[in-house]
Amino acid sequence: MARGGRKRKDLSEPDEVKDSSESADRPSKRSRAKTLKTITVSFGKSKSKLTQSINLIRNTIRKKQKLAKYQMHDKQSATTTARHGDLEIRKSTSPDTMHAEMVAIKEMLDKGAWRLINGRIKTAQGHDVELENFSTDACHCGFCTIMLRVLGLPLGRPTAGNHILAGNDNYPLPTEIKYDPLVVVRVARSNLTDNAAVALREILSSFVPYKDDDWYLDLGNGTAEFNNGRVTIAQAKESGRVRISLEDFFSKKNSDEVNMLWKEIFGAIRTTNNQFAKSRDGKREARQEAESEEKKRKTARKPKPSH
Ligand SMILES: [Zn+2]
Repeated sequence: MARGGRKRKDLSEPDEVKDSSESADRPSKRSRAKTLKTITVSFGKSKSKLTQSINLIRNTIRKKQKLAKYQMHDKQSATTTARHGDLEIRKSTSPDTMHAEMVAIKEMLDKGAWRLINGRIKTAQGHDVELENFSTDACHCGFCTIMLRVLGLPLGRPTAGNHILAGNDNYPLPTEIKYDPLVVVRVARSNLTDNAAVALREILSSFVPYKDDDWYLDLGNGTAEFNNGRVTIAQAKESGRVRISLEDFFSKKNSDEVNMLWKEIFGAIRTTNNQFAKSRDGKREARQEAESEEKKRKTARKPKPSH
């Protein structure tokens, strides 16, 4: 840490003159870009909370639906159909890009048919999206399974399978979702947003090179989160602490750090997917799911009696 004049890490000024001149003089270690890349995000004390949260989200799904065995091959493609009123879109995916589910969501958001409200996907009228209006012709991979649940979307056949590329934490999200702090809170805090400000401060503390008592999180609504409670923004300014702005952190200018945050989340999804898929519960559940699917198929195939 720099001595004397403490180096401010003000996220509202990512292109600080001081930083760019420093990087010109000493391009090796001092530039902000370098600093960002060398931060090791470990989520600190909230790392275990992240793992717990994802396990809990997965277990909540399992209370209603058994998790299927994920059998998509690298070159296989899935198609998601999304509907709203007269609008119907069908999106297929090639495996090395955004998964079909996410492409369909992105399109519905772009067209204004669906909206992201409080970290969840709703119709333009504010209703939940039903399964008949959001379906995929294949199993959801383990990443989509967690993300769809978090977003409040219906699940067709959920799994705990790691898609081969998503398994490398390469799982592109629609921009609106990626930069929504409440989606992050939902993934990292068991789909609850009750104490979103506290959770966000805790999550972002991995990126902030100050002691807990030396900075505040500007929530952008006239209030700020200290490490021990909510204060007005005026009180926060008077405190002399360093300001970290929530809005600036979750901005495209700060994509390096937002990407790191998601990489950490995807790492936790991947690890817990693996653990569950390999566990006795996971194997048994996949077997049972396959049997009941087969039964459903057979029943569907039976010709209806003509009399
Ligand atoms: Zn997927």
